[in-house]
Amino acid sequence: MSTPARTSRSQELLDRYEHSLITVFGTPQLVLERGDGAWVWDVDGKRYLDLVGGIAVNALGHNHPALVAAVSKQVGEMAHISNFFTSRVQVELAERVLAIAAAPEGSGVFFANSGAEAIEAAIKLSRRTGRTGIVAAEGAFHGRTTGALALTHKPAYRTPFAPLIEHVSHVPFNDVDALRAAVTGSTAAVVLEPVQGEAGVVVADPAYLRAAREITTAAGALLVIDEVQSGVGRTGDWFGHTASGIVPDAMTLAKGLGGGLPIGALVTFGPAVTGLLTAGQHGSTFGGNPLVAAAALSVLATIEADGLLDHVTRTGEHLVDAVTALEHPDVAGVRGRGLLRAIVLRSDLAAGVTAAARDAGFLVNPVAPDALRLVPPLTITRDELDLFVTALPSLIATTKESAP
Ligand SMILES: *Cc1c(COP(=O)(O)O)cnc(C)c1O
Repeated sequence: MSTPARTSRSQELLDRYEHSLITVFGTPQLVLERGDGAWVWDVDGKRYLDLVGGIAVNALGHNHPALVAAVSKQVGEMAHISNFFTSRVQVELAERVLAIAAAPEGSGVFFANSGAEAIEAAIKLSRRTGRTGIVAAEGAFHGRTTGALALTHKPAYRTPFAPLIEHVSHVPFNDVDALRAAVTGSTAAVVLEPVQGEAGVVVADPAYLRAAREITTAAGALLVIDEVQSGVGRTGDWFGHTASGIVPDAMTLAKGLGGGLPIGALVTFGPAVTGLLTAGQHGSTFGGNPLVAAAALSVLATIEADGLLDHVTRTGEHLVDAVTALEHPDVAGVRGRGLLRAIVLRSDLAAGVTAAARDAGFLVNPVAPDALRLVPPLTITRDELDLFVTALPSLIATTKESAP
């Protein structure tokens, strides 16, 4: 794998980074300075097509005028007020989230600051059933805080921090019989992603989600759908589970919701589930403050006004068609839905192709040894995606040439 050529500005900041940050992320690939739409520039002025999108966060791309206007206006009025008080934007956002979720009367929203915090809220919600068991899926990613980490599957993330919270089990994803066998009278919740992004963009079968709904209902357990990555239009529907037709007991949101500002949410469906958490049982200092609420409202309004759900569906299908049309011997296919995609390679070339892509001015994510994840802004155009697809054969060729 080639290391990116670094001029003095990038190199100087990376050296300072290594001496001032806890390097849990390893060495950053680039030092970025600004963005516009689906493009970002590094401190040396080099431009990249951003197909990572802040890991499915920058729903409207960079520097979107609606987001800039909403956040600028709000920060000029008030950024933060504590949860002793509320604001018009916070109430409007909660109402808007419940509306797009088609949540029934008596549903509710708790605002947090991240995906992991939304999952923490879901874990605490589940404890209020009087049960403690949680069933999650193999390959699952639900975050890195100690509670969420217990639901995350990857041993390398978990093992250094054991023991985690008890009574969590993992079952093979998309396996109805395994789920049925794991859910018992002591199961408080089943937690599932509609698309396992971190596992390499693996889509849940709609029939699997429907079976999970039926199994949890029969057992008196909650069904929690983790929409942190798949929600807010990413799949071409408002939520990844929408197409399955199920109504979950709760869902978690974060990543795309704030368009780059940090906000997470737990949505509870119906009065019985919403009533499980009562005054004093949970909280957050920053959660849902006016600044992030204004940002999220502008994201949701723009997705609606600009018809981005249809755009995401069509653009995602175009990506699949364009990659398929390459008929490239090293490309096995494209997984995923909407603009939550993985280009699957026939061998472990993903890290090499990612480095070659960066040199050529494209940012992608090697989510698995053989898979490139693409989670670009929902606003990206076909022409922009085509730039990458057209370059892909030469990126693969460069990678294979430089392989030892
Ligand atoms: C990213 C992610 C999380 C964790 O979100 P953070 O904001 O990083 O805490 C949880 N669940 C899913 C499905 C995610 O993709």
